[in-house]
Amino acid sequence: MNVAVISDIHANLPALSEVLAAIDEAGVEEIWCLGDAVGYGADPGACLDLLVERCDVCLAGNHDLAALGEIEISSFSPSAATAARWTRTALGDEGLAQLASLGDPATEREGIGLYHASPRDPIWEYVVDSEQAEDCLSVQEQRVALVGHSHIALYFTRVDELARMTSVLAPDGTDLRMNVGQWLANPGSVGQPRDGDPRAAWMELETESMRARFHRVEYPVETAAEAIREAGLPGHLADRLFQGH
Ligand code: ZN
Repeated sequence: MNVAVISDIHANLPALSEVLAAIDEAGVEEIWCLGDAVGYGADPGACLDLLVERCDVCLAGNHDLAALGEIEISSFSPSAATAARWTRTALGDEGLAQLASLGDPATEREGIGLYHASPRDPIWEYVVDSEQAEDCLSVQEQRVALVGHSHIALYFTRVDELARMTSVLAPDGTDLRMNVGQWLANPGSVGQPRDGDPRAAWMELETESMRARFHRVEYPVETAAEAIREAGLPGHLADRLFQGH
């Protein structure tokens, strides 16, 4: 089965629209979303509508749970906390009910582990180095797992439990086969990339061959940034979209 994996949309409608267009062009049977539909961006309702309609799996991320009031936001940055409160109001009862209908932050599909953040902490842990990834693999039940949350397209791999983990950034065009060994891969972020490439990220996965391809898509960043400013959200949430970090 050919699958599109997306994550961390963060209410960025121009980015999500371009990614969905690219996904449609590629032709996939399913779309899996690893969470954070909302938070930071200015179009939570429209993004949620699209995600609920299009995705076969849609995990809840920490920002989704924060907007719902289901987790503490005391560890959020001030702008993330402001955005969570703004999102809650912007969504209204109907939008919040839709947000509450998203899945858990962890699930499994086609034998592949899907987690918003990490296998050992699906809500909060940023997996950014190989030592962490190694610790995650010791609790990860699946040979291959996919995570979001860090907004960095990358993967970790080792041939077996005795080997050391390798950490590799996955820029546009990265093409790999995850058919042997253990893997933890992050498709990158649709709506707020933090790996220095401001283009929206998504990953294509062929589940029989386990071939994964990392893609980046141009989108009108100015439109998303303007919407953030007009909504009265913190200005740096608009500015950072141009830098991709
Ligand atoms: Zn996120």
